[in-house]
Amino acid sequence: MNYQGVLKKMKTEYLDEIQYFLDMQSDFLHVNQLLNSEISISFVKYQCLQCELEKPIFRQGFCKSCFFETPNAGDWIMKPELSKAHLGIEDRDLAYEKSVQLQPHIVYLANSSNVKVGVTRKQQVPTRWIDQGAHEAIEIVEVPNRYLAGITEVALKAHVADKTNWRKMLQNDCKDEDLVVWRDQLKKYIPDEVLPYFIENNQETQIHFPVLKYPEKPKSLSLEKEKTFSGKLVGIKGQYLIFEDETVFNIRANEGLVVAIEF
Ligand SMILES: [Zn+2]
Repeated sequence: MNYQGVLKKMKTEYLDEIQYFLDMQSDFLHVNQLLNSEISISFVKYQCLQCELEKPIFRQGFCKSCFFETPNAGDWIMKPELSKAHLGIEDRDLAYEKSVQLQPHIVYLANSSNVKVGVTRKQQVPTRWIDQGAHEAIEIVEVPNRYLAGITEVALKAHVADKTNWRKMLQNDCKDEDLVVWRDQLKKYIPDEVLPYFIENNQETQIHFPVLKYPEKPKSLSLEKEKTFSGKLVGIKGQYLIFEDETVFNIRANEGLVVAIEF
C-alpha cells in the first residue's frame, strides 16, 4: 500500500489502548494496524500547513513568514500567560484570539518521564496528555480563559517541572506517582485569583499506549537528512513512532513535511 500526504500530528482516540490515525489526504491511516509490519517513510517535499506553499518549515509546521504572521502561532500559544484577549487587546487577530483564549482551560499534572505541569484547552483533554506520552494525568484547575491558566502554570513551575524528557518517556523510564497527592501539595502555590477554580475531587486518568517493545537507546530519525527510512514498527507513544532498531520518529516535530508511506 502507498500513501502520500503532508504530516500533521496524529489524531487519537482514547480507548483502553490509544488508537492513532494519520491523515494522508485521501485516507486516514489507522497506525495501530501497522504494528509488527515493515514500513518505509520517505521525504517528498515541504508544504507549509498555513500557506501550503513548498517552503522550508521553520517551526510548528509553518514556513518562516507564516510562523511570524499567522494568528495561530502567536507567543501566547507557547506562553499562555501572555494571553490578552480577556483584556480586549490584540496580538495578531483579536477575533481568533478571543475564540481560542476565552474558553475553559485546564491546568494539569501529567506524568510522562516525570511529573510536569501544563495548560490546555478543556476540549483538548485527554488529547494533550496522549500527545505528550503521559501514562497518567490529572486536572488541577479549570479556569474560564487562557490567561488564568497561564499565570497558574508560571506559579507552579517554581515547584514542579514543565518539561518532558523524551528519551525517558520513550524508554518508559518513569514511576507511578499519586497525582492526587501532588495536586493537594501544590494547591498552596496557586495564585489567589485562581483558587476558586481549584478542582478538589477528581481521579487520575490512566493512558495505555500501543507499544510492543520500548527502546533502550532511542535514536531520533531526521527524515530531512536521511530522506528515507525503513523498519518494523513496534510501538506508538505520544506522537512518536517506535521502530524495532530503536529508531524513533516524532510526527509532531515533522509537521509540514510531505511524506510517502509504504507497507
Ligand atoms: Zn507558509
